[in-house]
Amino acid sequence: MSSTHRVYSYSAVLMGSPILLKLFSHDEMLASRVFRLIRQYEDLLTVNRAHSEVMNINHAAGQHAVVVSRPVYELIRCAKAASVLHDSAFNLAIGPLVKRWKIGFHGDRVPPAEEIAALLARTSPQEVILDDEAGSVFLTRPGMEIDLGAIAKGYIADRVRDYLHKEGVTEGLINLGGNLQTLGAREGGWTVGVKKPFDLPEALVGTLQVENRSVVTSGTYERYFEQDGRRYHHILNPSTGYPLDNELDSVTIVSPDSLDGDIWTTLIFGMGVERGCAALRARPDIEAIFVTRAKEVILSSMNHFRFTLCDEDYRLTDNIV
Ligand code: AMP
Ligand code: MG
Repeated sequence: MSSTHRVYSYSAVLMGSPILLKLFSHDEMLASRVFRLIRQYEDLLTVNRAHSEVMNINHAAGQHAVVVSRPVYELIRCAKAASVLHDSAFNLAIGPLVKRWKIGFHGDRVPPAEEIAALLARTSPQEVILDDEAGSVFLTRPGMEIDLGAIAKGYIADRVRDYLHKEGVTEGLINLGGNLQTLGAREGGWTVGVKKPFDLPEALVGTLQVENRSVVTSGTYERYFEQDGRRYHHILNPSTGYPLDNELDSVTIVSPDSLDGDIWTTLIFGMGVERGCAALRARPDIEAIFVTRAKEVILSSMNHFRFTLCDEDYRLTDNIV
């Protein structure tokens, strides 16, 4: 951020991630209210603890529907809609596979193929039954599990933005462990880095300049393990049960809402560069930055941000579609 005004940074560790809030006025009370808000949403959505509204749904799989609060219901509705799109790489019911793979956690090894096949049968998003009137969610098959890990941070980043707006804040930034949402801009916008895959945490491929936009990245380098010379990362292909395998190391989405960014990083990860760019032509509000294994950086378009390449190992390539 290029500004003569002082920026105040507040940090916390929530949702297992470093959280950073930037404001232009010193307001510790506001920062703690923001962190409390994040914690409240985490309490509703987490699947990394025994209890949450989402865990209540999972515990009742194959037994009965569970009434949840409006925000949780709406987020699940949105997640199901993205999951049932034709050929979607996003699947809100991927939970059993995520739990089994444990990628990035102690004991992560490739599960036996028969186990993956058996677990795949419990991941059908069509079997997540929603009742708009009751506000309830029913997983029809025992052992089914919803996992909102791919979108919870995006959703919460939007809620923080809305809260800050409501509190009269016109300029600020919230970074939820790589899910970024920005409010306003002075003098050229916020500068956001795009990480260099499999390098030091501070190494960047390039930087973006954005205003009033969210920036979300999904990358194969974020969580993975290696076995027998192969790398297994944390974004699973819902049709095979194995990590998505294509030319991409990361996808960054620039969009007004961070929830869209979070859903689209996964969708686009499944599509790859060519199909991803084609799909985004119907969504001018959503733009992608692809970083490939072949060390190319490809922009689907560049209408709402500026991009500066800053690593000479990489080359910037035009949208190939
Ligand atoms: P993100 O960091 O936003 O890319 O989300 C990654 C997380 O999403 C993983 O750690 C899993 O919890 C979850 N996940 C993995 N594969 C999928 C998938 N195909 N659809 C939805 N969520 C997924
Ligand atoms: Mg995501």
